[in-house]
Amino acid sequence: MRGIQLGVAACGLLAASVAFGAAGEFKKPVIEEWTKIEKNDKGEDEEVTYMTIDGILVHETDPAKQPQPPIVTPGTASTQETPGTAPSDAVVLFDGSGLDAWTSTTEGEPTKWLMKDGAMYPTPDSGMIQSKQEFGSCQLHVEFATPSHVEGEGQGRGNSGVFLMGQYEVQVLDSYGNTTYPDGQASALYGRSKPLVNASRKPGEWQIYDIIFHRPVFEGDKVVKRATFTVLHNGVLVQDHVRLSGGTGWNGGHAVTHYVPHGDKGPIQLQDHGNPVRFRNIWIRELQD
Ligand code: MG
Repeated sequence: MRGIQLGVAACGLLAASVAFGAAGEFKKPVIEEWTKIEKNDKGEDEEVTYMTIDGILVHETDPAKQPQPPIVTPGTASTQETPGTAPSDAVVLFDGSGLDAWTSTTEGEPTKWLMKDGAMYPTPDSGMIQSKQEFGSCQLHVEFATPSHVEGEGQGRGNSGVFLMGQYEVQVLDSYGNTTYPDGQASALYGRSKPLVNASRKPGEWQIYDIIFHRPVFEGDKVVKRATFTVLHNGVLVQDHVRLSGGTGWNGGHAVTHYVPHGDKGPIQLQDHGNPVRFRNIWIRELQD
């Protein structure tokens, strides 16, 4: 991109645009830079550099051109004893007061999940639960506790899962002193990406997932922009802007499903894997793609 901007008398063009990444995966920023002779405080001529990024001047103060960010009141942090609260602009999916925002994944059936002491959990054979509202790209906060009474091993210990768009599973598992295949342990993107570290707390303790998710984009039967996940487990980065290589559904012992085109939004689902994993303080903020 070349040219003189804003009608100023430019005396030099310093840089052209910068290309980023593969087509479809990134928005390409347009960066322009030029110089202008201005009088400084001493009345002397001085060369000043101007730069715009996507047409907005660096350090612009005119709110018509560079609006101030909206104000959000942060929530409170959770302790083991007390769940925290959501930021002011979040959709609260579960705050311990009821299951109104949730339904069974079996159409037309109410959920069989129960609530006790401000937490929700699956009953035997209750099936998965899903949010009534659907979401695409989002920031999702979920707290969970695997059973304090340890039973089973590997994938059979404290197994549940958080599914984005009803499709893509961030694994929930009791991975404290419990070894399994790394791409299926706690905070793995199931079968696709193991966590960078194992930040699990002890069984029975409350743990936190903070998930930043950008939905995949499809054209026809092809994925043209893969989903991305950034995940913090108990405040520790475990998935660092991972581009999901495909689906996360079980497909036998050594394979997972592929991308299958779907809509722009889907429900948040929590898995019933036969273990009474508890959940609390679930909130979500919708993001631009
Ligand atoms: Mg699972």
